[in-house]
Amino acid sequence: MNAPLPHPPAVRTTCPYCGVGCGLIAQPDGRGGAAIAGDPTHPANEGRTCSKGSALGETLALDTRLLHPMLRQADGTLARTDWNDALDRVAGGFKDIIDRHGLGAVAFYLSGQLLTEDYYVANKLMKGFLGSANVDTNSRLCMASSVAGHRRAFGADTVPGTYTDLDEADLIVLVGSNAAWCHPVLFQRMVRNKTERGAKIVVIDPRRTATGADADLFLPVAPGMDTALFSGLLVHLTENGALDRSYIGSHTSGFDEALARAKAIAPDIDAAARATGIDATQVRAFFELFRTTDRVVTCYSQGVNQSAQGTDKVNAIINCHLATGRIGKPGCGPFSLTGQPNAMGGREVGGLANMLAAHMGFSPDEVDRVRRFWNAPRMAEREGLKAVQMFEAIARGEIKALWVMATNPAVSLPRAAAVREALGKLELFVVSENVLSNDTVNAGAHVLLPAAAWGEKDGTVTNSERRISRQRAFLPLPGESKPDWQIVSEVAVKLGYADAFAYSSAADVFREHAALSGFENAGTRDFDIGGLASISDADYDTLSPVQWPLPAGTAPAERRFFADGGFFTADRKGRFIAPEPPALREATSSEFPLRLNTGRIRDQWHTMTRTGMSPRLATHLPEPFVEVHPDDARRAALADGSFARVATAHGACIVKVVVTEDQQPGSLFLPIHWSGDTASCARADDLVASCTDPYSGQPEAKATPVSIAPVTFAMRGFVRTHRPIALPNATWWTRVTTADGHEYRIATDHGPMMWHDFAYGMLSDDAKLAEHLDQRTYRAAAIVDGEVDGMICVGPTGEPLSMHDLAALDIHDDGGGSLAQISAISVVETEPVVCACFSVGEACVRDAVASGTATTVAEIGQATRAGTNCGSCLPELKRMISQERAKPGAKQRAKEPVS
Ligand code: SF4
Repeated sequence: MNAPLPHPPAVRTTCPYCGVGCGLIAQPDGRGGAAIAGDPTHPANEGRTCSKGSALGETLALDTRLLHPMLRQADGTLARTDWNDALDRVAGGFKDIIDRHGLGAVAFYLSGQLLTEDYYVANKLMKGFLGSANVDTNSRLCMASSVAGHRRAFGADTVPGTYTDLDEADLIVLVGSNAAWCHPVLFQRMVRNKTERGAKIVVIDPRRTATGADADLFLPVAPGMDTALFSGLLVHLTENGALDRSYIGSHTSGFDEALARAKAIAPDIDAAARATGIDATQVRAFFELFRTTDRVVTCYSQGVNQSAQGTDKVNAIINCHLATGRIGKPGCGPFSLTGQPNAMGGREVGGLANMLAAHMGFSPDEVDRVRRFWNAPRMAEREGLKAVQMFEAIARGEIKALWVMATNPAVSLPRAAAVREALGKLELFVVSENVLSNDTVNAGAHVLLPAAAWGEKDGTVTNSERRISRQRAFLPLPGESKPDWQIVSEVAVKLGYADAFAYSSAADVFREHAALSGFENAGTRDFDIGGLASISDADYDTLSPVQWPLPAGTAPAERRFFADGGFFTADRKGRFIAPEPPALREATSSEFPLRLNTGRIRDQWHTMTRTGMSPRLATHLPEPFVEVHPDDARRAALADGSFARVATAHGACIVKVVVTEDQQPGSLFLPIHWSGDTASCARADDLVASCTDPYSGQPEAKATPVSIAPVTFAMRGFVRTHRPIALPNATWWTRVTTADGHEYRIATDHGPMMWHDFAYGMLSDDAKLAEHLDQRTYRAAAIVDGEVDGMICVGPTGEPLSMHDLAALDIHDDGGGSLAQISAISVVETEPVVCACFSVGEACVRDAVASGTATTVAEIGQATRAGTNCGSCLPELKRMISQERAKPGAKQRAKEPVS
């Protein structure tokens, strides 16, 4: 017997999803897979992971990967080419278009998924050598308003606090943040503070999310009215003696103007209550809690940022912290929770069109400093186009060459259908990607460049608390894929800039990036990791997570900013900002009477190109849906579980209806994850308006006026296959990953006979079909080599679906031999799964609670295992306990704690 091959060594790396930046340990299995666990030594997570992080091992397969450079042919198909040819096409194309049309005709669109080293090299090429600042990133859609708010208030894009503040705060205010789902490990840290130290949690959100389950106070703010609430708070703090006059006087400017504006917006509690739609008693409770608690952290996220007034909202929050001096001290401060794994690293290298590298801007001195450091021949001297404006310029034909790296703008930008159309106008459309098919590639990319994916990449990322961690490769580069920094450098070499892009490793790039941050920086710029500019290759390889400002190893007090002023403005004072009165840009109308809020769900990430590969993650919320308040559902004649068409003037989605009181009347919620690859008609950003914040350029993704109307289908059912398939036109579908292939959940008006024909066309290659056809239903199983290779089951809407009559069949070939015994076919699983780690369904949890077997989350864990691994489902478990207790007959348990 052969001895088993030894496993390659375990590798410490960092999660590729959210901005918490959890450390992970990957144990490769030697066959292209790996077991993933939390890294107990990483300060961001101390060994914990969420459902997404713990399922990373299910996302490493190469089936969907782009493995070779490809070129679009004249007939529209893609054909393999070699790297030299592909890079010639990119370099030659950009040069030719600049020569013919000028610098304004080219652009890069980057991603918070890129590593810092990738981001740095792409920015250097465009801003220093091609000479344009038309480099923007999908971080524009995520946290640009926080960047703009920081720069206005602090003079730099500085996050003042650290994660330890979340352990030490006595009050944590979460604004526009469903942290329980979007930053789960950090949220569990906040809940631990509440459980162990008695910290209070206040959640401010138009929608009662899973985060609200742990809130001591939930404030259902009207869409877009956060500025009114925090203006009212500033007035309340002023009038009740809670200001830190010494801090205001010594370290800030602009207080009087900001207060005067706050008084104009919300002069008292009643005015704040009227403007925000929150009950005055709750507003008072929040104001008094904030006023009387010294250690307050205010966390905010996309609910604040994704707004046409996002920057003002950020500054209205920061104003309250500056006014009380609650910044840069233990347990205090405004805290932007960053969405993406390396949005912060992108900010550090100037990934945004309005920033230069190392947190510098476009002042003449800063442009000159970066020019000299890079020895740049053609330095961009003014800001470039931000994301929405960049794609509008593409639509107008002004930008003719675009290079997209590691992102999917054809799904994620506002008015995404118009973006897809605009992409078709490009003369040169280059995409660096991991996957062979997504909506952006399919929008007509001319050149596809195979980029390294997570697990193969090597470099650094920066998380929400300024901590730089290594992402390390633990798998070999598959096919001909290369790291993004290397691809960009090779294009630069072909453009004639070999000396400036002579990097031989990610460590080379990092050293230069670190050196630039320290270049002519005598404490005047916040971002300075110059102490790492001489790091050796060996030390870079083993670099432990390090938080800036350096030096590493200093106490938390020395790693916070602004406790004693020292802002990065010209006079070193922090700025109060007088925000504009809050108002939503686009008005509702009789045609579009509701407000659409978009966002994330717990177990998916962005457009699902990675998380969509995990069968486990697919079980939580497998179908695209819209949440509707019962009153709106009644008015629109929508039933829970039915279908609805959500529409604006420029797009529509058809999705399942979830009727819930968690939604405010007048507001809908639609998740952002589904694309043309995973559903027939569910791209949320097709609907989102393209109006943007005047300072940050971030689009308003939380309050688009929309309509909703019922959609009916005569039939429903499912198709299961091992391979992706094309379904008949006019069929609603969504594709869910299963352990051995795909399940398409379908709704249709096509009758049984059409599905019979479809089965013969789609499933019968090399297969024998066992089938049942009648006037109302069609069921078929395709058998290949004695195994079930595919299935179809369709029947009238509203009736149970069943394959049981086929399951009883023993299928024979023409000679009477047995082909297969279809005994293992199960009825389609429709019960929502709450705990993805152990596949525990909602009904199982509710049964345990209703029967009295479990009255706390700990007891649910003992009875079902739900919630005993990553903890991502704990907020939902708590909510279910509360809901079950609220039912008649369950009152005797109502006062027991749920935790
Ligand atoms: S909280 Fe989850 S998604 Fe975010 S970094 Fe940690 S493991 Fe990854």
